Amino acid sequence: MSLRGSLTHTALRRVHRNVLRPVAEILFPPNCWLTRRATNWNEGGLSLSVRESIAAAMARPYCGRCGASQGPWSLSHAGCQRCSHRNLGTAVIARAGTFEPPFSPLLYRLKFGRHWQIAPLLAVPLWQAMQRQAAQRNLSMDAIIPIPLHWMRNFTRGFNQAEELGWHLSRLSGVPMHRALMRIRQTTPQAKTSSRSARQENLRGAFTVRRGYGFHGATVWLIDDICTTGATLHAAATALSRLPSHERPAHICAAVVAVTDHTPPPLKQ
Ligand SMILES: [Zn+2]
Repeated sequence: MSLRGSLTHTALRRVHRNVLRPVAEILFPPNCWLTRRATNWNEGGLSLSVRESIAAAMARPYCGRCGASQGPWSLSHAGCQRCSHRNLGTAVIARAGTFEPPFSPLLYRLKFGRHWQIAPLLAVPLWQAMQRQAAQRNLSMDAIIPIPLHWMRNFTRGFNQAEELGWHLSRLSGVPMHRALMRIRQTTPQAKTSSRSARQENLRGAFTVRRGYGFHGATVWLIDDICTTGATLHAAATALSRLPSHERPAHICAAVVAVTDHTPPPLKQ
């Protein structure tokens, strides 16, 4: 596709997403994204059984440092067996659940099916998870910073799922979203890189903070769809922590829809 053709295609997709789809959904309420059953206005595209599954997943205890599932007896602010000896870059992580149903099929459809309508549905449990973690750690929420894609991948995919989530989180919470990070290197997709050390190496120096952004004394929340080994969050947090002291945030936290308790199989891009 030529550059002009690609730009036209992207513009048409945005019109479809921002104008045509919302109007169509008012006229014809959507079926549930997972069960395909008809939903009513209050259900917002997820049937009762799916919303109950989300609530059950959110109730499962997890480590507030790395997001790994934990028994309630082993929770500690110092982390768990998996993370207590590691520098994660982030102080706290909020998760809605783990990378399994109902979150895994919803995230697949958001990311690879390009169904933007799923982002606001996932932003609701994510916002609830952020509120819980912030309350438990007595942390504020001063800025939402989505994990960026490299511009080339953003251009070919047409949207950044982390930014979609961040935008809806900001709308729900009133916390401002800042596109403060830039991906300066196109990396191998993380899903194709299996080991933690390979992922960390893949992402070393991949992010930088855009000129003009400073977060002195603030608590910032990095937003992403999935956390597998934490390498992406670590690299993004490293870029923020290297800001000069008068611009550096006081706390760097993370919020993701799903944490993989095990490395998932590679995904097709
Ligand atoms: Zn942990």
